[in-house]
Amino acid sequence: LPIIKAQGSPDYFPDANFYKVEAILSLKFHSLTFGMSNSFCCFCFQQQTRPWRIPQVSSALLKMGIRGVTVSDVRGFGAQGGLTERQAGSEFSEDKFLAKVKLEIVVSKEQVEAVIDKIIEVTRTGEIGDGKIFLVPVSDVIRVRTGERGEKAERMAGGRADIKTKCFEDEGEEGSDD
Ligand code: ATP
Ligand code: GLN
Repeated sequence: LPIIKAQGSPDYFPDANFYKVEAILSLKFHSLTFGMSNSFCCFCFQQQTRPWRIPQVSSALLKMGIRGVTVSDVRGFGAQGGLTERQAGSEFSEDKFLAKVKLEIVVSKEQVEAVIDKIIEVTRTGEIGDGKIFLVPVSDVIRVRTGERGEKAERMAGGRADIKTKCFEDEGEEGSDD
């Protein structure tokens, strides 16, 4: 699958220091299959599991210094080409909601695009129903244990700041070998 990135220039409005990247993704998709037996042939929809798992997303994010992620099992109704939704009329009914997973990641503004691109990289199958990402401005982050606010509360051990320091340390070590 070719690597794709979120297109165009992002419109961060209203401007905030932190944003919540909220991704609603399907774990399953329906594929149209063609079956044949001696007496008849048929097309049918088969439910398949997408070739990625939540731990793959979280470990990819972990590698780039993301330490805080919230995951929930949700149910959603969209324009996905899934069997039930294809048959959907104008009314929303309970059984037309499909199982989805919601990832919520609050990051500082300069991390937003990297997080979005990573989610696309790991979860995109190119099939209808891959999902959507919403970007929500967050006005503040407060750490309950300490009462810290803003950047101090958003920053996490092993996160972006620590990774940067580690890179500088590594470069320093390489330099001292010369
Ligand atoms: P501490 O007091 O050391 O900060 P804590 O247990 O109170 O630890 P965390 O574990 O950092 O706090 O966060 C609590 C929960 O909040 C996490 O399990 C996660 O679901 C959610 N969370 C934390 N940070 C983020 C974030 N940046 N984006 C999304 N969810 C987050
Ligand atoms: N931006 C934080 C850091 O780099 C991490 C935020 C997050 O993990 N969601 O420390």
